[in-house]
Amino acid sequence: MCGVLGILGKMPLSMARELLLLLAHRGQDAAGLLWISGNEYIEAKAMGSPAFIELPDESPKIILGSTRYPTIGKRVGTEKDLDIFVGPFQAEQIALTHNGNITNMAVYAEKDYFTDAQFITDKLAKYLSENNNILPDAIRKLSSELDGAFSIVGIHEGKLFAFRDSRGFKPLVFGRSKDLTVIASESTVHSMIGIDVERDVYPGELLIFSQDGKLESFSISQNALHSHCFFEYVYFAHPATTIENQLVYDVRFRLGRALASAFKKMNIETPDYVVPVPDTSRPAAQALAEALDVPMREIILKNRYLGRTFIVRTQEERNAMAKSKYIYLTDKIRNKTILVVDDSIVRGTTAKMIVKDLKGLGASKVYFAATCPPQDHPCYYGIDISTGKELIASNSRKEEIRKYIGADALIYQDINDLVNAIGLKDLCLACLDGDYPTEHARYIQEQLQDEEESDSRDYERVIG
Ligand code: SF4
Repeated sequence: MCGVLGILGKMPLSMARELLLLLAHRGQDAAGLLWISGNEYIEAKAMGSPAFIELPDESPKIILGSTRYPTIGKRVGTEKDLDIFVGPFQAEQIALTHNGNITNMAVYAEKDYFTDAQFITDKLAKYLSENNNILPDAIRKLSSELDGAFSIVGIHEGKLFAFRDSRGFKPLVFGRSKDLTVIASESTVHSMIGIDVERDVYPGELLIFSQDGKLESFSISQNALHSHCFFEYVYFAHPATTIENQLVYDVRFRLGRALASAFKKMNIETPDYVVPVPDTSRPAAQALAEALDVPMREIILKNRYLGRTFIVRTQEERNAMAKSKYIYLTDKIRNKTILVVDDSIVRGTTAKMIVKDLKGLGASKVYFAATCPPQDHPCYYGIDISTGKELIASNSRKEEIRKYIGADALIYQDINDLVNAIGLKDLCLACLDGDYPTEHARYIQEQLQDEEESDSRDYERVIG
């Protein structure tokens, strides 16, 4: 998962940085902007938040932006590592950034790359050279080789382009006003500058936007089945974002209602409060509280100056972060039965800590509900649930997980209820059911089945 941004039309760089901040939740490793000045690509990048990017007082006519979230490859550990996620890299005729994960890099890479973006740029530059610099032909060749998820935004010959893989795993939308074209991972970017979203970039579609306002659309690779990542709705995307015409807030609200039905079937004591784990699960907690007719109370408050625990990389970092992540309204907890709602239980670190804290503060019972069904398979398409070993649900049954996190009851979302809540049939659910929609991901799954899984995720580099 990363955030990508493309802007065509004069915009102050400081405003582009503001827009990139709306994608900061999609990647906290590093952030960068790239623009053209004269005939040169200029880049400005920073570790962590886009807020740290230092910019000149300029208003270029074309800008790319990226917030980076590392899955495979190098993590931005020092300033020297910043040149890996948006750029022309070694290419001259093209610059790009992308969101997603190529699963079969090992099959086609002729050398080692730190990131998919570098690999894609190199390949595209080669295919442009072989195809008279015609972008649709080069992308067609590239797309016929790649397996995995890729939503790309780039610059070629002074034009802005967008391309989405034929399954449409990762979101990509665009909107236009008289003077501006904006492509972004999430529609909140358009809302902020008052531009209506025109539509999603269709899966398998290449769009090329020219400075004179012309838009060309090329159907590059069609797939009858699409595989939109369900986890965007559950966790990644901002609640105000609309993906494939579904408002994320509404989906999360419906997920809460479905959890209420599941809770009622358990015939356990009604809680005194429903309590969201901020911020993702708030709409679901609200719906759940309404359906159970009990109050929702924001007893768990977030330490705003910390990032998302899922995005930090090591278990040690996660544990340290989880400890300082929440502040509790301690006088609301004693002798209360509390139903905590979180978006998901990935490794169990956060759930265990919250239950322990609430009980330590005097809660009589703590129930734990997750808006996401158990994730028991790794994701090969761009999020850092890299190995089955790391996923608590892949190694433990529901009752074992309940005991591990210390809850008095555990309520998971049902897969069918999840699909109904999202309202789309063509979803990727692979991390829930192991049914990977692309060929090379299935091949990786087969290869890993007989092997002891490692803690690191480098299979895209070695399984070719
Ligand atoms: S495996 Fe899960 S997280 Fe990965 S793309 Fe599919 S639904 Fe999204």
